[in-house]
Amino acid sequence: MNEENTKKRLSLDEKFKFSCHKGLPCFNTCCNDINIFITPYDVLRMRRGTGLSSGEFLKKNTIALLGDEGLPLVVLKMTEDENKSCPFVTPDGCSIYQDRPWACRMYPIFPDSSERRLNNQRSSKEEAFLIEEKPSCLGFMEHFHEVLPSQWTVEEWKKDQGIDIYDKMNESYKEITLHDYFSASGGRNKLDSGKAKMLYKACYDLDEFKKFLFETRFFDIYDVEKEVIDKIKEDEEELLNFSYRWIRFNLFSEDTLKLKDKTLDKLLQSRREE
Ligand code: SF4
Ligand code: SF4
Repeated sequence: MNEENTKKRLSLDEKFKFSCHKGLPCFNTCCNDINIFITPYDVLRMRRGTGLSSGEFLKKNTIALLGDEGLPLVVLKMTEDENKSCPFVTPDGCSIYQDRPWACRMYPIFPDSSERRLNNQRSSKEEAFLIEEKPSCLGFMEHFHEVLPSQWTVEEWKKDQGIDIYDKMNESYKEITLHDYFSASGGRNKLDSGKAKMLYKACYDLDEFKKFLFETRFFDIYDVEKEVIDKIKEDEEELLNFSYRWIRFNLFSEDTLKLKDKTLDKLLQSRREE
C-alpha cells in the first residue's frame, strides 16, 4: 500500500466529502491492477451485465482460489495489457456500471473487518466503516466538487450506490462462510475438496445449479414449496437464495430443506436391507 494513503474510522452519521466523475484527470485510473474479491451475488450481477452464462463469465473473468477453511475465494481477473486494466473499463467508464461489484460501489469506504472479527458481529448493520484517502484519487479534492453533490454519510453513500440488495444477498452468504461449523473444535474444521466444489458450483455457477435442479429428479426427492419452484425458475436472486438453503442443508445438516416422505421411506428400507 502507498504510504501516503490515509485510513480513518467513520461513524455512521459522520459526513465525508467525495465525488467521482468523468471530468476528473484521474478518471478510470483506479480500475487498473486491483484485487477485487467477488461474491456469488457480484457474479450474478456482473454476468447479467455482460450477457454471459455464469460458467462463461467465471472462466473468462475470474480466478478461483481456496481459502484456509476450504472456502472458495473468487477474484476478478485483470487483462494482460500494460496497465493490467479491468476487463470492463472503457474510455467512458465502467461498461457494466449498473451491475458493477460491491467493492467498486463501496469505494472509498469499506467495513472495518478487524472490528467485526473482534466483536464477532454477524450483521452489516452493526459494522464499523473506514474511509481510505489516496492522493491519486482526486474525488477527495474539494475544488473538483463544483457540480455534483459531495457530502455523504455512510448510509447516504450506500443508498446512492445501490448497495442494499448487495448487502442483503452477501449477508446470507456470510452466514455460510462465517458459520459456527468453522469455529467449532477450536477453529479447525474446513471443507474437503468435494464440499468446496459443491459450494462453488451451487453459489457461483448459478446456471449449472439451475440445470441440476430442473434437469434431475431433485424436486421428486426434496419437498420444495410450489411457489418457491415457480420463483426460482424465473428469478435469479431467488435461485441464489435457494442455493444457500441447499448448501446449509448439505454442509451443516440444517433443516433448510426436507426430503419427501417417499424418499425417506426408501432410505429407511434400504438401511433395513443392509
Ligand atoms: S475520483 Fe477516485 S474513484 Fe473516481 S476515477 Fe478518480 S481515482 Fe477513481
Ligand atoms: S468492474 Fe467497473 S468499476 Fe469495477 S474495476 Fe472494473 S471497470 Fe472499474
